[in-house]
Amino acid sequence: MATVVGSCIVAERADNPRMSHSAPFIFAHGLPSRFWAELSTHDFAQLQANGTANDIVAVLPVAAIEQHGPHLPLSVDATLLQGVIDSALAQLPAALPVLFLPPQNIGLSTEHRDFAGTLTLSPATLIALWTEIGHCVARAGVRKLLLLNGHGGQVSVMDIVARQLRQECNLLVYSASWFSLPLPDAVAAQFSAHEHRFGIHAGDIETSMMLHLAPETVHMERAQNFPSSAYERSQRYALLGNGKSAKLGWAMQDYHPAGVVGNAAAATADKGRAVVEAAAQALAQLLQELHQLPLSTLAPAPSSRAGG
Ligand SMILES: [Zn+2]
Repeated sequence: MATVVGSCIVAERADNPRMSHSAPFIFAHGLPSRFWAELSTHDFAQLQANGTANDIVAVLPVAAIEQHGPHLPLSVDATLLQGVIDSALAQLPAALPVLFLPPQNIGLSTEHRDFAGTLTLSPATLIALWTEIGHCVARAGVRKLLLLNGHGGQVSVMDIVARQLRQECNLLVYSASWFSLPLPDAVAAQFSAHEHRFGIHAGDIETSMMLHLAPETVHMERAQNFPSSAYERSQRYALLGNGKSAKLGWAMQDYHPAGVVGNAAAATADKGRAVVEAAAQALAQLLQELHQLPLSTLAPAPSSRAGG
């Protein structure tokens, strides 16, 4: 009976695209899975008992469910982030103790809420949600957390939560967005410099990635070149328009009434695959570096040092 159940699990996992086909089914420190929710409380008790919980890197994927124009589904930010994670999972060495928390797919999408279908939490709710999950991670004895983001509109929330968790739980927290990970020149060069700067929502890059990951959800017959109003400002204002010195408090329609900026009509699945694979490779490297980073990166508070 046990053998049958065991082989069923093995067969299921071998077919699971989230798992590397060549990876063993037990990871570093005896972890039976890469997914936090698939472990038992017994597994966590053992990690704490043998002192290895603090060697684990937990990852909290955070995304959004928001409008992406007439041609893409609301799920884009969640679908792209999961696609990058799935591709990275196949590259992670079994000896790397990484645990993925359940993805938080509703985020801060205030700037898209005038478009039907967008789901958004308030900033205060989102800060509380991610911070409380971080507290749970710390309670399990885990000391390292990566906030891994798929939505540009909530980078500032990650930043707040990361510092909050460092103060409240002494957690070593890094935050990153898949789109901030470096792309090799050959991949970046498949999109124009104009598109990299201005095509930031549902344009060529995101549409290409969706054509690779979930082509059945993409309506290319509605995809167009949607110019961004930011380009005009870049031509007229040296500081307001340089994309670095000052930032507009925006609603998406301020950039384009269709809720899209970028040349979505130029998208291809091949370009999308290249971006997903490059981002996944960078994510796998980031996780290995985070594992190597010593916990002593966080220094004790000056008062406790002085107090001895
Ligand atoms: Zn997006």
